[in-house]
Amino acid sequence: MSAAGLEVAMPRKKCQDERCPFHGSLKVRGRLLTGKAVSTAGKTFVVVEMEYLHMVPKYNRGERRRSRVSSHVPPCIEVKDGDTVTLGECRPLSKTISFVVVASRRGT
Ligand SMILES: [Zn+2]
Repeated sequence: MSAAGLEVAMPRKKCQDERCPFHGSLKVRGRLLTGKAVSTAGKTFVVVEMEYLHMVPKYNRGERRRSRVSSHVPPCIEVKDGDTVTLGECRPLSKTISFVVVASRRGT
């Protein structure tokens, strides 16, 4: 399935948000990220954490590193703590936000 030029399903709900890639005019281009929602206290954004393995050649082992990005959530997508979310890169929406949630799944 594809919507808004992405390999994601169209949200079931509709919204009036100008900053929505499905119902507004926000364009998604650039990187697609997948991570876990760790803070959904904000009304229009979530904090998403991604974990990755960084190899340390000296010990021939990996170490777990993580990074966080803030992402805009359009009203038609519901995100709860612990959800696995897919983010699309968009234009900068604020000082720290240049991603938008395009899909969300319960749990991991
Ligand atoms: Zn929408």
